[in-house]
Amino acid sequence: MKVQLVLALLSLAALANARKPLAARYDNFKVYRAFVEDNEQLEEFKKVHQHIQVHILHEIGGSNRSYDVIVGPLFQKAFEKVLHDLEVEYEIIVEDLQALLDESSVDEDAPMDWETYHPLSTIYDWVDDQCAEHDYLECKVIGHSHEGRPIKSVKLSKREGNKAILIEGNIHAMEWISSATVTYILNQLINSKDAEMQRLTEEYDWIVVPMVNPDGFVYTHEVERLWRKNRRPNGYTNTSGPCFGIDMNRNFDFHWSGAGWNIEDPCDHWFGGDEPNTEREILALQDFVSSFEDGYIRAYMAFHAYGQYVLLPYGHSNTEFPPNYDQMMRIAAAFADGAVDAYGSVFTYGASGLLNYVVSGAAKDWAYGVKGIPFTCTIELRDKGTFGFFLPSNQITEVGTEVTEGLKSLVAKANDEGIFD
Ligand SMILES: [Zn+2]
Repeated sequence: MKVQLVLALLSLAALANARKPLAARYDNFKVYRAFVEDNEQLEEFKKVHQHIQVHILHEIGGSNRSYDVIVGPLFQKAFEKVLHDLEVEYEIIVEDLQALLDESSVDEDAPMDWETYHPLSTIYDWVDDQCAEHDYLECKVIGHSHEGRPIKSVKLSKREGNKAILIEGNIHAMEWISSATVTYILNQLINSKDAEMQRLTEEYDWIVVPMVNPDGFVYTHEVERLWRKNRRPNGYTNTSGPCFGIDMNRNFDFHWSGAGWNIEDPCDHWFGGDEPNTEREILALQDFVSSFEDGYIRAYMAFHAYGQYVLLPYGHSNTEFPPNYDQMMRIAAAFADGAVDAYGSVFTYGASGLLNYVVSGAAKDWAYGVKGIPFTCTIELRDKGTFGFFLPSNQITEVGTEVTEGLKSLVAKANDEGIFD
C-alpha cells in the first residue's frame, strides 16, 4: 500500500512538473572573466564558441577589456586551454552559477512586493490594480509582443500642462532588476507619503513602460534564465536549429549599423537585426512615444543591468557628442550624487560610446537623436560584476531606494538646467 501511495504521489509530482517547461540549470557552471588585451587575441577569442560551448555575457566590443564567459563542466578544461594558448589572462569569478542563481528568490504566487522577483502575471496584475485604484493614472496597452503578450504602459498625470519623464524597463529579458526597479519607482510615485515624491508627481507627468520584452521575460522564468533578446525566429539557423530573437536595444534607428559581432553571427545574444525597426515590441514603444505631442516628453530613461553607469548619447561614436552633452553630464552627475548617498553605490556617467563601447541601435540614442528629447540615458543598475546579471532579490529594495534618490536629484538638476521649460 505504502509503495503504491508513494508511486502515486511521484507520478502526481511528475504531472505537475510536466505542465511547465523545465528551466535550464547551471550546476557547476563557472563564470570566467577573461582579459582580452589586443586585437589579435580578440579575433581568436571571438571564434571560441565555434568549437566550445560557451555563453559570453558581454557583447564583443573591442580589445583591452574583460569579458565574462559562462562555461559548463564539460568544456571548462578545453576553455582554459584555449585561453592559456592565446595568453589571455583570466580569473574564475563564479564557481557554481546555479548556487548564485539560487540566491534570487522567485515567488510565483505572492502578491507584488520588492522582496522577491515575480513572474510577468504578478507584475501586470499589480499594474492593473494600481490603474483601477487611482483615477490620475491612465493605463494603456501600447502593443503586443511577437507571441501576443500585451505591452502595458502607465501614465501618471495630476496636473494639466506638466512636462513628462518616460521610464522603460526590461527590454533585455534576463535583466530582472530592471522591471523590479521600474515598478519600485512607480510604486513610490503612486503610494509614497514622502513630500518630495508627492511634489514630483504634482509637477511632472510620469510615463512608465515596465516591461518592453514580455516574451523574453517569460522565457527567462520558464526556460532559460540567461536569455537577452525577444523570441521572434530571426530567419537564421545554426547547428542547434532555428535562431530566435533580436537584441531590441540594438534595433532602434539612429546611425544604425551592425556593430562588432552583430554582423558575424545572427544567432548571438546581441544580434541587432538585418535592418533597424524590425521588432514589433520596439515599434510599439516608438509609436507610443511618438503619439505624444513634440516637446512633451523631456526625459527618457531606459533601465538595464549591470555596471552602475549613467550612459548618455551617443553610442555610435566616441568622437562625436550631442550638442548639449555638457548639460546632460551635469544632470547625470546629479543622479550619481543622489544615488551614492543611500548605500554608497558609485555610478559612473558619460557617453556610452566612450564609457562602454561603440554600438548603435539603443533606445536612448533614438529618443535623443530622432525624437529630440533633451535628456536621455541608459541606467545600468547594480552591481559591478559580483552577481552581474543575476542580482539577488534581497538587493531589490536597496536598488530601488538608491535609484529613487538619484532620480529626485536628477529631476531637480534637470529643472535647474531648463530641461522642462
Ligand atoms: Zn540591458
